[in-house]
Amino acid sequence: MARRRQIYEGKAKILYEGPEPGTIIQYFKDDATAFNAQKKGQIAGKGVLNNRISEHIFSSLATIGVPTHFIRRLNMREQLVRQAEIIPIEVVVRNVAAGTLCKRLGLEEGVQLPRTIIEYYYKDDALGDPLIADEHIACFGWASQDEMNDIADMAIRINDFMCGMFAGIGIKLVDFKLEFGRVWDGDFSRVILADEISPDSCRLWDVKTNRKLDKDRFRQDLGEVGEAYQEVARRLGLLNPEDGEEAGAVLDLDEHRKKRDK
Ligand code: UDP
Repeated sequence: MARRRQIYEGKAKILYEGPEPGTIIQYFKDDATAFNAQKKGQIAGKGVLNNRISEHIFSSLATIGVPTHFIRRLNMREQLVRQAEIIPIEVVVRNVAAGTLCKRLGLEEGVQLPRTIIEYYYKDDALGDPLIADEHIACFGWASQDEMNDIADMAIRINDFMCGMFAGIGIKLVDFKLEFGRVWDGDFSRVILADEISPDSCRLWDVKTNRKLDKDRFRQDLGEVGEAYQEVARRLGLLNPEDGEEAGAVLDLDEHRKKRDK
């Protein structure tokens, strides 16, 4: 494969220059980090599964009119996306109390929230992505008021859609994180959904058993992490039934290709 210019390496993905101007290739790694990268590890096959799951969700969101950066999946671990100016805000949507919300406010994990909460965090690893208010966003000019209105509207639509999608396969959408980017058309810009949506960035619980099917299995050393991601992909209909419950032909094929391309 031709050498491509690497633009950025993050915790779970590498970004390469795309084949045409204004495009980027997102490569999904098996690397996992938690607690602001203090805990590091690998989840075999995670990159392949997240690539597929994120493709599925972004494509579905496009069908209901949510603008996204996703163009197409290129192979097992890569997708072609539209280049966007990333807005330095992590948007967290919460339906059920978990994670830092419980820690911060002393809530019991699993309590259904009386209404959906949208929170904003400033994207800065050195500061540990601090929770911020709309006032900070306006004060420091990280996004305009119009952009924030669009972001909040999209976050609610995405939440409504994803709650239904996951409910249909017996999964409760507890919370998730979104990132948005700005794309320019001459002097005008608009906001589109960027990054990824996967069990790395969502809390997903089995409706009947409350079994965690997301990165909390890694964060909390619960084991069977890859299996949980596979379970999500399988329920979404993204793995062939004949792949079985274990590793899955999807992952075997990926290993085979990696060895072949070495
Ligand atoms: N999240 C994420 N990346 C982050 C922080 C949070 O994808 O840098 C996701 C996380 O997986 C969860 C939701 O956002 O689904 C809310 O996370 P929380 O604030 O509870 O923090 P965490 O427990 O992940 O540190």
